[in-house]
Amino acid sequence: MWNCVRVCSDEPARANILAMNFCSQCGKAVEFRIPPGDHLPRYVCPHCGTIHYQNPRIIAGCVPDHHGRVLLCRRAIEPRLGYWTFPAGFMENRETVQQAAARESLEEAQAHVQIGSLLAVVHVLEAHQVHMFFRAILPKAEFGIAPESLEVGLFAESEIPWENIAFPSIEFALRRYFSDRAAGREDYHFTTAERRPRM
Ligand code: ZN
Repeated sequence: MWNCVRVCSDEPARANILAMNFCSQCGKAVEFRIPPGDHLPRYVCPHCGTIHYQNPRIIAGCVPDHHGRVLLCRRAIEPRLGYWTFPAGFMENRETVQQAAARESLEEAQAHVQIGSLLAVVHVLEAHQVHMFFRAILPKAEFGIAPESLEVGLFAESEIPWENIAFPSIEFALRRYFSDRAAGREDYHFTTAERRPRM
């Protein structure tokens, strides 16, 4: 029972991470506690000793630009189905963030892009995510509708559907993209989004 008391008193910390009931190494029930020498509670397996660390995940994306117009996709999947975004998604193991951003363009818009400078880093604390977005060139106006998208198109700045952008981090990056471009610079921008983007 002592374990239950400790677990229950850790609700705020536990709410901060994904729930885990069983050890993925040995299948036994895990405990939620601060490992020796650590400072945060983790899921710990008392049977095999595995500590199941949870760390933020990286979302990579880019703003593909074709002669001044940018490529946006309307999402065919939840969350935010029907809303607009530039290509972005979870980074895979064994790829760079630039490779991930280019891959997402291919997967979501069938677009071959050339990744450019870093545009924005958005810390989405509540969702345990770091969003990293790049500028990109779309050399040819060649793209298509992939399974994850309902529509794909090129938009001038005046045509951006600002009311229907899928996530705050996407809007943040897009707005900086256009303001930097107008000023003739390529800065990078950091911010923290408190709101869960459900990406
Ligand atoms: Zn175990």
